[in-house]
Amino acid sequence: MSATGSELSGHVVIVVGAGPAGMALAKKMADAGHEVIILNRDIKFGGLAEYGIFPSKLKLRGGLKKQYWDMLEQPNVRYFGNVSVGEGKDLTVEDLRGLGASAIAFSIGAQGTKAIGVEGDSAMGVFHAKDVVYHFNRLPGFGDRPFDMRKHVAIIGVGDVMVDIAHWLIRYKKVERVTAIARRGPAERKYNPKEIRAVCAHMDRAGIEQEFARIKDRLVAVGQNPDEVLAGMTSEFTKCEQTGSPSKMDFRFLASPKRVLVDANNRVRALEMEDNKLEPKGDDTAAVGLKRYYEFPVDSVVFAVGDRVDETVGLPYKNGVYVTNPNKTGNDPDDALFQAYDEKSGMIIDGLFLAGWARKASEGLVGIAKRDGDWCAEVINRYLAVNTSRSGTAMDDIIGRLQTVLKARKSQPVDLDGLRILEAVEKTHPGSPDAIGEFKFASNADMLAHVERGRG
Ligand SMILES: Cc1cc2nc3c(=O)[nH]c(=O)nc-3n(C[C@H](O)[C@H](O)[C@H](O)COP(=O)(O)OP(=O)(O)OC[C@H]3O[C@@H](n4cnc5c(N)ncnc54)[C@H](O)[C@@H]3O)c2cc1C
Repeated sequence: MSATGSELSGHVVIVVGAGPAGMALAKKMADAGHEVIILNRDIKFGGLAEYGIFPSKLKLRGGLKKQYWDMLEQPNVRYFGNVSVGEGKDLTVEDLRGLGASAIAFSIGAQGTKAIGVEGDSAMGVFHAKDVVYHFNRLPGFGDRPFDMRKHVAIIGVGDVMVDIAHWLIRYKKVERVTAIARRGPAERKYNPKEIRAVCAHMDRAGIEQEFARIKDRLVAVGQNPDEVLAGMTSEFTKCEQTGSPSKMDFRFLASPKRVLVDANNRVRALEMEDNKLEPKGDDTAAVGLKRYYEFPVDSVVFAVGDRVDETVGLPYKNGVYVTNPNKTGNDPDDALFQAYDEKSGMIIDGLFLAGWARKASEGLVGIAKRDGDWCAEVINRYLAVNTSRSGTAMDDIIGRLQTVLKARKSQPVDLDGLRILEAVEKTHPGSPDAIGEFKFASNADMLAHVERGRG
């Protein structure tokens, strides 16, 4: 469904961030007859659907891409890629608010990195999951950076991102060993059983059994049956993908990294770990340190402990998240959850909304982000229905103002025609040299040069 000129609502909505949440939100806004301007940091749309989801998941990625193209082709949608919002970026939040749109939604994902803040975590050989994921998905700026993974890589965390990184390390880097490290036990593993199929052919079964033997008393102490937990965990090692790599994978449970230990060249040589026990916490368990420390030799470490939002954007920020309205409205979905809120004044920031991982960092898969975008659209529609006075500034005026600011900042936005040129170039490439997935441009400069040439 797309709105024709006579069906337009008179509202212009700006969506910042073209990942799954932003694209879902933009679609709902366009379908409701609003004019939509999408601003996106990356030249290409898709967010983590383009630069996060494992490259070999071509079917999922292809399906999303098609939906996103269809949405962008609607006449009441305008796309500006290569436009970052934030302090010192192409536009500030205040610049945006001055353009005259009826509502602005931020769906910029969670671009900050969450560190557990241990001594030595800036040593050579320590990496953050998002950077690694952006690297193997070849997001410009990350694809060409060296990620020197050596023989034995510890991944801190046991979620799906850990599995994707292990998959890459095993299949493409062919490292000797990957060890996934968990603060809690095997029963509290977080990855999806389907995802583990990508790496389960490489499980060091004997090593995993030894690990269970090492921790079994601590599992029994909280009423868990180690044999059952082991059987449950290994029963998921079915339909394992064959990769042809000699790598091995195992787990270290009930272990909290306390320090990254380095050699004379400031390169990781080990993790200092603290042994944990489990304690019941409601229906769940919590890890409690036992003050027993030991060295665990590894030569590379990847922190995959989730993400937090980018605090430099200029949105109200506190403790890793953007602040939303604490005063619930009782609507379903609750408007408050999506409204940006200024704690100093104790007021919502009128017309400013949040959706997707920008609202709840690292929360769920694409379907969850899409649903969040849909919910945010409902909230914005409710807002626009009662704030009719906000309509009035014409799309062309807003676009004109936007282009003036972008020109003054020497920004180089890429529009839908630019994206079509890039798409045509991509189709001429059969695949990437490392066969990890489809072709990706190495840099923004490369893409911008193609767009310029394509425009003749
Ligand atoms: C490693 C990894 C693997 C995953 N694998 C899967 C999977 O297999 N299947 C699945 O369903 N889900 C998967 N997910 C989850 C899925 O990617 C997320 O649920 C979803 O992408 C979140 O959508 P989002 O729109 O909130 O944020 P994002 O996808 O992060 O999109 C944010 C967008 O905002 C833009 N942006 C960022 N900052 C700014 C700024 N300052 N100004 C302007 N634009 C900005 C970015 O360019 C980007 O386009 C995976 C996630 C990760 C991290």
